[in-house]
Amino acid sequence: MKKGWVGAIAVLLSAGVWAKTPWQAIAHPVPGTAQAIGAFSNGCIVGAQPLPLESVNYQVMRVDQRRYFGHPDLLAFIARLSANVKKQTGGIVLVGDMGMPAGGRFSSGHASHQSGLDADIWLQMPLQRWTAQQLLKPQPIDLVAANGRQVNPRLWQPQVTALIKLAAQDHEVTRIFVNPAIKKQLCQEAGQDRDWLRKVRSWFALRAHMHVRLRCPADSLECQDQEAPPAGDGCGAELSSWFTPRQPSPEAPVKTPPPLPASCQALLDKHLLVN
Ligand SMILES: [Zn+2]
Repeated sequence: MKKGWVGAIAVLLSAGVWAKTPWQAIAHPVPGTAQAIGAFSNGCIVGAQPLPLESVNYQVMRVDQRRYFGHPDLLAFIARLSANVKKQTGGIVLVGDMGMPAGGRFSSGHASHQSGLDADIWLQMPLQRWTAQQLLKPQPIDLVAANGRQVNPRLWQPQVTALIKLAAQDHEVTRIFVNPAIKKQLCQEAGQDRDWLRKVRSWFALRAHMHVRLRCPADSLECQDQEAPPAGDGCGAELSSWFTPRQPSPEAPVKTPPPLPASCQALLDKHLLVN
């Protein structure tokens, strides 16, 4: 199983395109019943579907990157969320990266988004639809103040809280990652209704978008779910820990990629054989 990885990496290295992963060469979803396979940060997907690019409730950014594939559950979630957002705020949901046609590892930008269950949603909801040009070169709004300790009060809007709360209340969503300064703001605004905050987790960067993760679909037998987040709203010591100097980042480069789940390796081998 490892041989495939080593071989593929050797080929890529010798080609001088080390940043590319073999998954980027797969242009179309693998036919079959939808199956999310493996972990969010080491997996793939069979039977992914493209997010429909036309919708009155959302718009898809950077379609040239072809990162708008996912498990049907993810497509349904985006449709559901954007309809609710439209109803509640009147704004359009801006959809960023989802997954590649067969999932798998990106050359850059993401460690996860590999099994068709992760999506990036921007934390701005235009009232006017963006033009094709704006969607191809989207301008993020940095919602976090320069000191990293709070949101930028000039740019922060209550609708952003509404968006994140609607996503967190969705029954399919298990985790939402946002910048610690944004989580802090949500903690302040939440009032009595705080259950949804449990799913909202702090993570590095994420100053202009949230990363939403869905549970493993019940019929995806090889999908590896994460444990539920710890009980509580995460607004106390856990949040404070993000504002104190920390140990080396867990994002430090990994020397050897973990072995792929066998089903993903088989899928890759088959693709390399055919093409
Ligand atoms: Zn993401």
